[in-house]
Amino acid sequence: MALVDSKEVFDAVVVGAGAGGGTAARVLTDHGMKVMLLEAGGPLVPSEEFKEHKTYADYDHRGTENGKLYFGDGKPFGFMSTTSGGWELDGEPYTTAEGTDFRWFRSRIVGGRTNHYGRMSFRFSDLDMRARDIDGLGVNWPMSYDELAVYYDKAERFIGVTGTKHGIPSAPDGIFQDAPQPKVHELLAQKAGKKLGIPFIANRRAIVTNGVKDRIPCHYCGQCGRGCQTASAYAASQVDVFPAVEKGLKLTTDAMVREVTVDSSGKPDGVIYVNRKTRLEHRIRAKAVFLAASSCESARILLNSKSKHHPNGLGNGSGQVGRNLMDTVGFGLSGYVPALEGMPKYNTDGFGGAHLYAPWWGYKDHEKLGFPRGYHIEFGGGFGMPRPGSYHGTARRMGYGKKIKEEVRARYGANVGFAGRGEMIPNDMSYCEIDPDVVDKWGIPVLKFHFQWTDYEWKQARHMEKSFAEIIDAMGGKVLGLKNADREADGISVPGSIIHEVGGASMGHTAETSVLNKYCQSWEAKNLFVVDGAALPSNPDKNPTLTINALSWRASDYLVEEAKKGNV
Ligand SMILES: Cc1cc2nc3c(=O)[nH]c(=O)nc-3n(C[C@H](O)[C@H](O)[C@H](O)COP(=O)(O)OP(=O)(O)OC[C@H]3O[C@@H](n4cnc5c(N)ncnc54)[C@H](O)[C@@H]3O)c2cc1C
Ligand code: SF4
Repeated sequence: MALVDSKEVFDAVVVGAGAGGGTAARVLTDHGMKVMLLEAGGPLVPSEEFKEHKTYADYDHRGTENGKLYFGDGKPFGFMSTTSGGWELDGEPYTTAEGTDFRWFRSRIVGGRTNHYGRMSFRFSDLDMRARDIDGLGVNWPMSYDELAVYYDKAERFIGVTGTKHGIPSAPDGIFQDAPQPKVHELLAQKAGKKLGIPFIANRRAIVTNGVKDRIPCHYCGQCGRGCQTASAYAASQVDVFPAVEKGLKLTTDAMVREVTVDSSGKPDGVIYVNRKTRLEHRIRAKAVFLAASSCESARILLNSKSKHHPNGLGNGSGQVGRNLMDTVGFGLSGYVPALEGMPKYNTDGFGGAHLYAPWWGYKDHEKLGFPRGYHIEFGGGFGMPRPGSYHGTARRMGYGKKIKEEVRARYGANVGFAGRGEMIPNDMSYCEIDPDVVDKWGIPVLKFHFQWTDYEWKQARHMEKSFAEIIDAMGGKVLGLKNADREADGISVPGSIIHEVGGASMGHTAETSVLNKYCQSWEAKNLFVVDGAALPSNPDKNPTLTINALSWRASDYLVEEAKKGNV
């Protein structure tokens, strides 16, 4: 196929415009570098796409997408949610090994999954980063908490993260925006938690409440999952990419990167991408390559970048590319709390999702508990906007008329749901590799997934189940059942379904045992960096995105310093 060769040489090419790529593209551009950002998805226009101020009545189909909602063809998080990708992408399959049930949520849009992620933003702790010293499992991080904390500070100041300070060793404090008041059901959970020794504290969300440069404070419309036109909620598109484009960043959309190219000495010198509209192949030349296409996709690009110098794929001399694949352990229970029945409908407005969460409280008790790593609790409830299909169960039971209206009004706000998000220990059965038999519609070989939970994760999930039942009981409620029956039916989340997949090109202490050094830099090519979740050597219970932002910022600063010294 003919190759369109740009000839222009960029200081850096960044692949993927999500959390990791958006951060790198912005930081490198701010340093005065000439940067090309390649994004597989299309452009994003928030004023057209984001629906946070719409009601269902604004649409003829009332948000059912003309039946798609009920037949499973609609957007994965509902019609109103902003586009961030899906579980299945037309013509872009992945495969799973026999016995593996793995779900891979992928984005194809500027901003990636950050346009609509939950914005839970928790620092990894010193305990997380040197956990092997404590229990002998997994690996320690190649850097200390203090080294990373410098970049957590930068990321939190820039992104804006709410919270309050508590000095809890498993949940380090950060640079916080003001936290909003708890919602009514959250106060009840907090009271129940006190009886059980479970601390419910202000949630840490990537939302500005005091304002930061060029972004106004949240106005509490409560619909962050639909996108946020004021960018009060962080999205890499609005907060990193668009401002950087104004400063000279070159952004190319619909650019599906296939491989990293190397020169005659084996040194990376750019990438090849397929234009998704014209199907033409293009070559971009650059002095440094930053991969940030999301954890597994970056591993895929490395594995597909074979050459005589790198017969097993680029940066894969250790054979570790694709290995160390982890997701978050998930389990949820819902409950019904009569004490919340018929509550006056006080204003429980706020930002979308919970104002409180519970950090892991059992970090001193792992030997006694019988599982090695912890989890935090996220939870929901309150007077959220009913969605199409809400209360269909009640309608089925009670039909129509006055009685059902009374029942719905009384029960509105009395349901709660608790979800555990826990750490998985990496294992040899969980990895991705290139499937030798399948290519996508661009002709690019696809990934095949292998994944197994072990006893460590199952035991942790049983502890979640017990804790949530106790909390619901202490709230005076009764357990209704699984919170997300489809993905937790076996008593633990389907691997990948929590959408915190990380690993695949991990940082480590040596070139023999890992893919990257502590600056997310390839051991084998000094001008190659992987700055998405692939770089994480472990997956603590904390949701990964804030750490991806921090690591990507750190790697970008490092490249600039090294380039000045002539080391790259
Ligand atoms: C509904 C939902 C809720 C979530 N909630 C949270 C949360 O509360 N807290 C949290 O920390 N995390 C959360 N996450 C996870 C979070 O979104 C990811 O951790 C984060 O976006 C990862 O950043 P990334 O840069 O690695 O990948 P992404 O944000 O997915 O960005 C990758 C980008 O690369 C592009 N790309 C892919 N392949 C190629 C290619 N071959 N060539 C060029 N471009 C390519 C994609 O189109 C995409 O734009 C959530 C995710 C979802 C979907
Ligand atoms: S609640 Fe706040 S952060 Fe969320 S969409 Fe509304 S204004 Fe934006």
